[in-house]
Amino acid sequence: MTPALEVRDLSFRYPDGREALAGVSFTVNPGECVGLIGPNGAGKSTLLLHLNGILPEQIQAPVVFVAGMPVTEENLPTIRRQVGLLFQDADDQLFCPTVFEDVAFGPQQFGLDEAKVREALAKVGLAGYEQRSPQHLSRGEKRRVCLAGVLACNPQVLVLDEPTADLDPRGRRELKDLLRQIPATKLIASHDLELVVELCPRSLVLDGGKIVADGATRALLDDSALMLRHGLERPHILQHHHPH
Ligand code: ADP
Repeated sequence: MTPALEVRDLSFRYPDGREALAGVSFTVNPGECVGLIGPNGAGKSTLLLHLNGILPEQIQAPVVFVAGMPVTEENLPTIRRQVGLLFQDADDQLFCPTVFEDVAFGPQQFGLDEAKVREALAKVGLAGYEQRSPQHLSRGEKRRVCLAGVLACNPQVLVLDEPTADLDPRGRRELKDLLRQIPATKLIASHDLELVVELCPRSLVLDGGKIVADGATRALLDDSALMLRHGLERPHILQHHHPH
């Protein structure tokens, strides 16, 4: 089976010399939902940006593959269509005068389907927000507009960077339900380990630009030494069931 995502020995240094990724390798199979966890500065966002070619690889051979297709300059239009990326900061993703235009921005490049835009807004609970200005929405609403924009493109792979940041408990619950219903392959970076344990059977732990663990989410969260070592904390919902 061709993996939905494959990363082979990816290293990356920012122009100021900081090494953000140091030999990251993993694969994600079609339909899997995988968590990406680790402390601040671990390299999670940097890794996610590579998955649809936002950060250039400063090397000869491609090291990121989406459904077998190498992420290279010439493949970028196809890659960006297949990989929907929800940025960590909603303000990086919103730049149009109205919500409708922002959500339509992606699908517009593939032939605009107005119904799809409205459908995506309804999915994230923002029906009726079409003519609002994204700048005047709450942070949680902005995040949902961004998610609608990603969903409207119907990506095969959904890459989410801190999707529940800024959401209130109800918003978090709704987002979880929504993500569960989306059949796309998913990679979710989050500090919200409750979300990760509920949605992702498997997780990767990233720290210092390296994958330090890759396995069943519950087993990882039950490994208190691993959690402590990488600045993580077992979520409350697991607090009452102790591992043997
Ligand atoms: P995480 O998402 O896990 O918090 P990041 O990918 O944001 O981690 O950051 C990984 C490392 O790269 C950190 O040391 C961070 O300071 C550094 N970094 C992130 N963005 C930049 C940038 N634009 N320029 C230089 N260093 C950066």
